[in-house]
Amino acid sequence: MKEKPIVYVTRRIPEAGLRMVREVCDVRLWEGELPPPKEVILREVADCEGLLCLLSDPIDAEVIGAAPRLRVISQYAVGVDNIDLGAATARGIPVGHTPGVLTDATADLTFALLLAAARRISEGIEKVKAGRWRTWEPLGLLGADVWGATLGVVGLGRIGAAVARRGRGFQMHVLYHDSIRKPDLEAELGLEYAELDDLLAQADFVSLHTPLTPETHHLIGEEALRRMKPTAILVNTARGPVVDIEALVQALREGWIAAAALDVTDPEPLPPDHPLLELPNCVVVPHIGSATVTARERMAVMAAENLLAGCGGNGCRTASTRKSTIRNTQHGTRETEVQEPLQ
Ligand code: NAP
Repeated sequence: MKEKPIVYVTRRIPEAGLRMVREVCDVRLWEGELPPPKEVILREVADCEGLLCLLSDPIDAEVIGAAPRLRVISQYAVGVDNIDLGAATARGIPVGHTPGVLTDATADLTFALLLAAARRISEGIEKVKAGRWRTWEPLGLLGADVWGATLGVVGLGRIGAAVARRGRGFQMHVLYHDSIRKPDLEAELGLEYAELDDLLAQADFVSLHTPLTPETHHLIGEEALRRMKPTAILVNTARGPVVDIEALVQALREGWIAAAALDVTDPEPLPPDHPLLELPNCVVVPHIGSATVTARERMAVMAAENLLAGCGGNGCRTASTRKSTIRNTQHGTRETEVQEPLQ
């Protein structure tokens, strides 16, 4: 009987996915709450055929180089900016990810943050808990209207479009900026395309939904923040480094913009003494965009399918029979199917 392929799973994911992998693979699971240290990853991948990893694991050229038998990298996330796609591609290793199944969960969280910042929810909660709620205040905790305001969506992909849909549901005027125009979505949802500078100047809420790439790194820096309205609110559920966090601190302190709401930061996690956390006009949550039971289960199943499809043979479903389940991100972050069975 052939031996099961060895796979390294860098964190406990929902059982629905782990079970699938265990059925056909020899699973080595990092049980720690925090990410495995780099030296552990380097050691574990040395004889692995598959790697199931998280966005907090740096899968760089060194890790890929330390894994001579590696046949697939399966990321338990849609963003793959922690993985050296060039190094994986050079070795012919497909990189799977989990697009689609977390879109609505992340869009919901985006809107929760947008509403929280607009209506100053965390300031209100703190006030009540601190016993400072003494009466109904005619001038207390006044926020911004969401309905009827202009929402600017930067990156009209899966999540951006889902956020735009929610914006339309709130009777918002929705502008978007993307690398390409999307006439079908414009017509379907009643959206208006804008150049980034125009979107920044006009939007009451700017919501970021691009992947993190060299092009989007610090896309929102001092210049962009100064272009926004002093009443504007920035929402980031994309990736922390899309925003220059030092410039954001200055913008929030000096009133270039009114507020920010962040699911993602740079660095992650933010140290507890980070200046951003002292600002009342900034809401920060710990990267929970996809954190619903259903989304995480579906991500686990998709990540397992990608891993198994990439491992191939030895009882694993091969890429040739399961190729449609691999969301291959070798060519940028586009969804392309693996066309050839993996050898
Ligand atoms: P997606 O469907 O690929 O959407 C990204 C969109 O951004 C695409 O339309 C892309 O256009 C566009 N884009 C790329 N570079 C751009 C630029 N420089 N300027 C304007 N638009 C640009 O991906 P998705 O599923 O919506 O996910 C988006 C990102 O959200 C992920 O990459 C991930 O980092 C983040 N995310 C965060 C969480 C969370 O927990 N907070 C959860 C899920 C995802 P092209 O296709 O033409 O490049």
